[in-house]
Amino acid sequence: MNHPPIVLRTISDLRANTASWHSEGLTVGMIPTMGALHDGHLALVAEARRRVDRIVATIFVNPAQFAPTEDFGAYPRTEASDVAKLAALGVEAVFVPTAQEMYPVGHATTISLAGPALGLETDFRPHFFTGVATVVGKLLIGGFPDIAMFGEKDYQQLLVVRQMVADLHLPTEIVGLPTVRETDGLALSSRNAYLSPEERRTAASLPEVLNETAAAIRAGGNAGEACRAGLAKLKSVGFRPDYLELRNALTLAAPTPGDAGPLRLLVAAWLGKTRLIDNIAV
Ligand code: AMP
Repeated sequence: MNHPPIVLRTISDLRANTASWHSEGLTVGMIPTMGALHDGHLALVAEARRRVDRIVATIFVNPAQFAPTEDFGAYPRTEASDVAKLAALGVEAVFVPTAQEMYPVGHATTISLAGPALGLETDFRPHFFTGVATVVGKLLIGGFPDIAMFGEKDYQQLLVVRQMVADLHLPTEIVGLPTVRETDGLALSSRNAYLSPEERRTAASLPEVLNETAAAIRAGGNAGEACRAGLAKLKSVGFRPDYLELRNALTLAAPTPGDAGPLRLLVAAWLGKTRLIDNIAV
């Protein structure tokens, strides 16, 4: 039986906890999450377990990355079962701050980026990456972990976090890990819980269209045409797509003709009230 993790609720406790590990010469990994943990999150934990001596997972449904019209209120909050899942993997600490702790009255500093934050998600959720970069920046500065784990599931977010860490000279290595999927290909996501049984069946078309579109592009097809066909297929099965686009995998810039790659195909689409995102290497 593993010891249950220590639950930390303040930045000063987070900082003191990491400092004491570092003073013992131990390495520290952080896994930032919004909770409602699934096997995608737990894969990040398992990889951290292989790489570092001590793990701190963070659970914070970050109000700054939701627009007023979005699902902040509905987002699943399952702290007790999340902590139990982390305990089973031997996680030593869980940081679960309140919004007041992260954003005290009068909080006035945000981190906003250009580069990989431009386009894609930002075209539809303009507030999103400022919210993500600000909270991840505060978590990394609060805990100064040696490494922090992020999923490729949120590919643009991974590149935004890497850019922020490089630009702010933060001493944390950002580790990106492949997307964990259901057997029908759907990427695991806390938001999948919103899907009705019928929507859940339809949702498998999202990775299917990504794979078909990527295959057409790899076979030498015109990327614009392949993406238009993919968008049409998504609409025909009931999605309302925000985008399906081919990008340079390192910069997220639109690929230039003959771009030597690597390339990435990224999609976001609504199914009923649920917005799903996914991406694959081309
Ligand atoms: P979230 O709780 O959705 O903010 O996600 C926390 C972290 O888990 C982020 O780095 C995500 O990219 C990662 N993550 C979410 N879903 C998956 C998945 N299906 N596979 C791998 N990583 C994931």
